[in-house]
Amino acid sequence: MERVDVAIVGAGAAGLSLAHRLDRVLPHRSVVLVETPEAALRSPERTWCFWEEETGEWDAAVCHRWHALAVQGPDGTTWRSRIHPLVYKMIRSRDFEALVRGSLQRVRTLHWTVTDIVDGPGEAVLRLRGADGAQRELAAGLVFDSRPLVGLPAEGVTLLQHFRGWFVRTDRPRFDSSAAVLMDLRVPQPERGVAFGYLLPFDARTALVEYTEFTREVCSDAAYDAALRDYTENLLHLGVFTVTGVEQGVIPMTSAHLPERVGHRVFRIGTAGGATRPATGYTFAGVQRQTRRIAAALVAGRFPVGYSAYPARHRFFDAVLLRGLDEGVVDGAEFFATLFRSNPLPRLLRFLDGSSRPWEELAIGLGTPVADMSTALWRQVRAGRRVASSLLR
Ligand SMILES: Cc1cc2nc3c(=O)[nH]c(=O)nc-3n(C[C@H](O)[C@H](O)[C@H](O)COP(=O)(O)OP(=O)(O)OC[C@H]3O[C@@H](n4cnc5c(N)ncnc54)[C@H](O)[C@@H]3O)c2cc1C
Repeated sequence: MERVDVAIVGAGAAGLSLAHRLDRVLPHRSVVLVETPEAALRSPERTWCFWEEETGEWDAAVCHRWHALAVQGPDGTTWRSRIHPLVYKMIRSRDFEALVRGSLQRVRTLHWTVTDIVDGPGEAVLRLRGADGAQRELAAGLVFDSRPLVGLPAEGVTLLQHFRGWFVRTDRPRFDSSAAVLMDLRVPQPERGVAFGYLLPFDARTALVEYTEFTREVCSDAAYDAALRDYTENLLHLGVFTVTGVEQGVIPMTSAHLPERVGHRVFRIGTAGGATRPATGYTFAGVQRQTRRIAAALVAGRFPVGYSAYPARHRFFDAVLLRGLDEGVVDGAEFFATLFRSNPLPRLLRFLDGSSRPWEELAIGLGTPVADMSTALWRQVRAGRRVASSLLR
């Protein structure tokens, strides 16, 4: 059986980011990236947006940048702001993959499906299936697994961020491409959770227009299309346009604890390892923090523990919000409108990245509908106590 020092499972955002870093910092270690050749298991192409300073390590793959962001409240009030020194950037997953693969010098890619990982005290064994059905095994000193989790966690609250977007081209100039609209809360709202439009204008005539919900159940394709038709016609007034592409996805937003280390030798990364911010679904920047910390630990000869993408107090804040949305005690549209109305955007963006200071977090907390959030907080604490007492029984 072949043995390697490190096996990275899955070549998505997390697997590629980690491969890129380990390729540079562990020149004398054997590292492999194991990616499934099976189309049914592969993650479809997508775009990733995130914010960071003007210059960043993935700039060669960035296809669009916005220096201002906007939010529209349920009544149509718009809050728009420059986000200097930050920039909102978009990367297409295929460009990211090409950039990383082009830079790898030592990491090898194996095109096999991981069917099982058997953990052990000294090494873990990956069971692999080839495209032709052949079986083999690979031993690894450390495994970083980014395969999507099967099923949703039973504990805590899990909402789905589910969406469908159209890449559109209009017959006349319709967009202000200087700002991306993070949330357009004028769309009809569900009873529990929140729905909003998301608008990424590339120039005056082309944009990605998405309809998104944070709710428990995904919609049918027909329902997404109906919502998008309503949004583009009655709220954006796009007139005549052509749909040139479609992007669709589901991102689990959970308050459940997703452990990073799941065995002696096995660790999770990416969405499976808690890199998704529970309250927003943003993951790409969290993946970068996670994989940077893992690479630093390995260089220092340490086991990579404590590489969480978000501080515990932020995860608690998100858990309260998810509970409030799920139990219908927080009006989602009102919550997000109040949040953006009461806080400068750069402060909120720092908070969502886990880098805000405690006084900023206090200001953010006070700039939410406090009565609703207090009820949600109380329910979250009560639910936590129920779990604790059932564990002690
Ligand atoms: C359509 C869409 C748009 C998104 N947009 C944004 C955004 O704008 N900003 C943001 O921050 N986040 C966004 N997200 C959320 C998040 O960034 C992505 O889901 C991101 O791809 C998660 O990275 P990952 O590495 O955890 O998982 P993935 O990128 O899904 O990677 C998992 C990898 O594992 C491989 N794999 C699966 N099974 C096996 C197996 N058995 N053996 C071997 N390999 C396997 C898959 O082929 C894939 O390469 C978006 C998500 C979706 C779905």
